[in-house]
Amino acid sequence: MFEREPFETMLAMAKNLHPREFIALLRGEIKGEETRVKDLLLAPLSVYGAGFSSFNPYAIPFDASVVGLVHSHPSGRAEMSTWDYNHFYGSIMVIVAYPYEGSGDVAAFDGKGHRLRVAVESRS
Ligand SMILES: [Zn+2]
Repeated sequence: MFEREPFETMLAMAKNLHPREFIALLRGEIKGEETRVKDLLLAPLSVYGAGFSSFNPYAIPFDASVVGLVHSHPSGRAEMSTWDYNHFYGSIMVIVAYPYEGSGDVAAFDGKGHRLRVAVESRS
């Protein structure tokens, strides 16, 4: 479950950086089966344009509120690549795929690669 603001921010940033790759940390909380994303945090040492592979998760300062990572797939395929599996960080991995228009372009996965339901909080 995403709060509205981080959801829209991540789509907007992916769009702005296209065709370069966008990456950010997801902050929020985990309650049972449900992960709630409340905030985005730009990953330190991530290099836009050089691809996700330049991202070093070990450079992330310890932050208990980090629940996972989001990155974009400018190719438009919202599926985890082998590289993505090997660089899973936190509890969820979110992929935003071109054309980054809405929840249909967003996929979330758990550490086993199972697809999670993506829901966005409605506007209050
Ligand atoms: Zn990927």
